[in-house]
Amino acid sequence: MKKILFFSSNINKVKEIKNIFKKNKLNILSLNDFANLKNPLENGKTFVENAKIKSSYGFEKTKIPCFSDDSGICIEALKNGPGIHSRRFFSGFKNQKDCFKYILEQVNKSKNNNAFFFCSICFTLDKNKHIIFNGKVGGTISKMIRGERGFGYDPIFIPTGYSKTFAEISMFEKNKISHRSIAINKLINFLIN
Ligand code: IMP
Repeated sequence: MKKILFFSSNINKVKEIKNIFKKNKLNILSLNDFANLKNPLENGKTFVENAKIKSSYGFEKTKIPCFSDDSGICIEALKNGPGIHSRRFFSGFKNQKDCFKYILEQVNKSKNNNAFFFCSICFTLDKNKHIIFNGKVGGTISKMIRGERGFGYDPIFIPTGYSKTFAEISMFEKNKISHRSIAINKLINFLIN
């Protein structure tokens, strides 16, 4: 079975990605399989640049074909932020509730609840061979924090065509439509062709 490294220690991303890959005969390793691998500095200016920094680093250190995910939420009321700074923005608050409260207030003030999640996957096959796959899912920011599932901004994001937040639907359901699954399915198509 072919081995591929998913360069992430985010348990939630790893779970979602392993679930998407389930049908394919690939052994997906993650940073949890490499005790001494650290994260490089993510100083890119775009999702693509940050994804490339992580997958290049993972390949360089392990020599195993490596892909990474850089993703985030873009909220129109926050000038399409926090975007690539989604993780840092989140951890800048005392807790999840304070972060969501701030976002909901800003959205309410601006009367614009449009948002989208974006995901860039970079797959590094060799030192100078990187392939990018992007995925985007549009939606709105909910009026209230809803749901217990998922992670990050899932409890305040309602994908277009749904009435529930990402945190109110199962991982199976989220994986049918999410930014991450769109990008990963492009990678899977590339791998099997
Ligand atoms: P990264 O590890 O720098 O790519 O961090 C991405 C951050 O964006 C995560 O820590 C979450 O806060 C947020 N994010 C990305 N994808 C999702 C998702 O599918 N649901 C909820 N939040 C997400």
